Amino acid sequence: MKTARAVPVLMYHHVSPNPGLVTISPENFRAQMRYLAEHDWHTASLDELARFLAGESLPKKSVVITFDDGYLDNWVYAHPVMAEYGLHGAIFLVTGWIGDGPPRPHAACSKVGAGGTAHLPATPDHGTCKRLIAAGRADEVMLRWSEIEAMRAAGTFEFHSHTHTHTRWDQIETDQSIRLNRLTEDLETSRETLRARLGASTPHLCWPQGYYDADYQRLALASGFTHCYTTQPGTVCPGAAADALPRIVIKDRGNDWLASRLWLYRSAFRTRFYGWFKGR
Ligand SMILES: [Zn+2]
Repeated sequence: MKTARAVPVLMYHHVSPNPGLVTISPENFRAQMRYLAEHDWHTASLDELARFLAGESLPKKSVVITFDDGYLDNWVYAHPVMAEYGLHGAIFLVTGWIGDGPPRPHAACSKVGAGGTAHLPATPDHGTCKRLIAAGRADEVMLRWSEIEAMRAAGTFEFHSHTHTHTRWDQIETDQSIRLNRLTEDLETSRETLRARLGASTPHLCWPQGYYDADYQRLALASGFTHCYTTQPGTVCPGAAADALPRIVIKDRGNDWLASRLWLYRSAFRTRFYGWFKGR
C-alpha cells in the first residue's frame, strides 16, 4: 500500500443555510464530502493522525476533518451527510457550552417530508451564535450530549477538547500567574467533563482562536494534552511538532476548490512552496 507523505487537516465551523463568517452551505459541504467519498479519501481519526506523526503509515489519500466549537448545525446538517458517505471527523467541543436534553431533528430525520425542513431547528450565523452564547442561551445553538452520543454511536464524529469556556485568557488577565491558573482550570475542567461524559480522556486539544504561547503549550502538556491543533496553515508530516499542528481553513466552495487544496496540502513540498509564495 502506498502511504501518505503529508496529511491535510481541514478546519470547519458551521454547516448551515444561513451564510456568515466560517459557515459553509449544506450544498457545498455535501459536494466536498461526496468528492472525498467518490475519490476514496480516507478520513482519519485524530489517534490515527497521532500515530502517523510517530511514524506509522496511513493510506496515500488521507485527510482529517475537524470542526471547532460544537455547533448544533454540525448535528443538523453535517452528521447526516457524513453518515450517508461513510466519512469520519472530529469535533473540538467547548465543553461548558454543551447542554442536556433530547436530540433535536436533523436533516435526514424521517420526519422531514418532501421539501419540508420547517421543523428543523434554527441554525443562525456565527455572530448570532456568539451573542446567544454570551446571553446564556448556548443550548439554542450548541450541541447537546445526547446528540454527541448519537454521532459517536453512528461513527460520524469523535469528540475532543476546545477548552471549557473558549476564553482568551491572554486578552483578559494581565497578571501572568492568574492567567496561567485560569487556563489550567479551563483545560482541566474540559478534560474532566469529556472523561465523565464520554468515558475516556482525550489527548487532543484545539486552542481557542488558534492562540497559544510556550507557557500555554507547557500547561496543555501538563494537563494531558499531547496533541494541540492551531489555525496556522500547513500540512502534517511525520515527525512534525505535535504541540502545534497546522490546519486548513475551509471556504464556502464546492468540490473543485477542495480538490485543489488537497492536491496542494498532500505534498509537503508543494505546501512549503505555496507558503513561501504567500510570504509565510
Ligand atoms: Zn473556537
